[in-house]
Amino acid sequence: MKFSELLEVSRRANQPLHEVVLVQQMLEDGSDPSETRAKVRFLLRTMLKIVESNYGKCQQALVGLCGENAHLLSKHEPRFVGEFIHTAMVAALSVAEANASMRRIVACPTAGSCGVMHGVVYALARVAHIEEERLVDGLIVAGAIGDVVARVASVSGAKSGCQAEIGTAAAMASGMMVYVLTRDGEMSCHAAAICLKSLMGLVCDPVGGFVEVPCVKRNATAVAVAVSAAEMALSGIKSVIPFDEVVEAMAKVGRSLPEELRETGLGGIAATRTAQRLLQGFMNRGDTNEAIERRNNSER
Ligand code: SF4
Repeated sequence: MKFSELLEVSRRANQPLHEVVLVQQMLEDGSDPSETRAKVRFLLRTMLKIVESNYGKCQQALVGLCGENAHLLSKHEPRFVGEFIHTAMVAALSVAEANASMRRIVACPTAGSCGVMHGVVYALARVAHIEEERLVDGLIVAGAIGDVVARVASVSGAKSGCQAEIGTAAAMASGMMVYVLTRDGEMSCHAAAICLKSLMGLVCDPVGGFVEVPCVKRNATAVAVAVSAAEMALSGIKSVIPFDEVVEAMAKVGRSLPEELRETGLGGIAATRTAQRLLQGFMNRGDTNEAIERRNNSER
């Protein structure tokens, strides 16, 4: 179902968007809406626990290209951003570095982009003090945003570039931010569209194929994009291009990206001189094989 169709049902039935999403899910797979809601609540609590156990900590990343970013930012007194963005960014880095260290995360929508949603969910709960059931409503709507992208385009960096991972995560986060404050599906949809347009074309270029550079820091900067898109939508700014069309455009952009820019580690940042030098260094020391072995073991 297109996002515009979900909004239309919500309008006609005079039901909040999150309820429409739950009913639509029931029509598709027979799932009980209250059970789906309970599952989303469980995921929300899991995400908050994950942030709490990793917040601002140093981590031992697989190949060591990250691991201290969350710690550094957590100790830094922000000069330009307020508490909400700072907290969300620290949380995003913490969880992205936890992922790079093979720790447990909620892949929302993917492991590489998991920091964005964890970061925003955490700041909404702990800084904006949004109550749990509102957060569950917002997470359901965020899920619907991600679901539309997954169906029409992709949430895979290997298929459509980082726009599909980080871009989708940021769109979900900005839509959720607006929804928990307003319960306005249309406004949330504008936030998601503004966000996705801003990150369209972002390439997938992890150094050595490891989800560390540039992935981890992208999670934090995407939080800031999500927050600005949410603020714009809350002010009444609309996306001229509807969300569904933005997603279609994103799918086309993804198909036109060359293979080097789709998680092969051959283009973009991964192809820079420094990236190549670092990679050569790992290979000379045998770190890469050891890292691959650690990754494989953790996947078993
Ligand atoms: S660069 Fe690629 S691997 Fe890294 S977060 Fe983006 S899509 Fe995922």
